[in-house]
Amino acid sequence: MKRPNEMSITFTALSENEAFARVAVAAFVSQLNPTMEELTEIKTVVSEAVTNAIIHGYPDLIGDVFLHCKILGDRMELVVEDHGVGIDDLETVRQPLFTSRPELERSGMGFTIMESFVDEFEVTSEVGMGTRLRLVKRMAAQQVAAGNEV
Ligand code: ATP
Ligand code: MG
Repeated sequence: MKRPNEMSITFTALSENEAFARVAVAAFVSQLNPTMEELTEIKTVVSEAVTNAIIHGYPDLIGDVFLHCKILGDRMELVVEDHGVGIDDLETVRQPLFTSRPELERSGMGFTIMESFVDEFEVTSEVGMGTRLRLVKRMAAQQVAAGNEV
């Protein structure tokens, strides 16, 4: 069986690493020939996911953020994980405009934005254990390429 192409990065949950994570994922998925729009969407998703892990996952201590990216044919799978405080009520926090940190001028749109840019989106979390996001995005140009082969 052909081995999937994947990469993992673990980095300190500091906001200065958010740009690094965004660029690292964008560079890795460039092999899927994403359009500029898709690349912008991917960078936005990474940015929202990593910012959530840093700000909400680790409000009181600086832990680690785990990022895993895999190429699956014409799709990329991205997992962003923290071992922080976790989420008690997933249904509530995923609603548009919900934020637990209005004092930080968060708008509560992170989950909604991420979900709108991807094809599959899952969040799992356990209080005291952390949060894991898994998402899949298909590249349209690759779909066309695949279609042309038939
Ligand atoms: P915005 O992303 O618009 O700046 P926000 O981060 O508050 O604001 P979302 O990204 O939609 O909005 O997240 C909603 C809420 O879910 C957060 O306010 C927080 O309570 C919770 N949350 C999100 N990610 C995590 C996480 N990794 N760990 C713990 N709580 C989280
Ligand atoms: Mg957010």
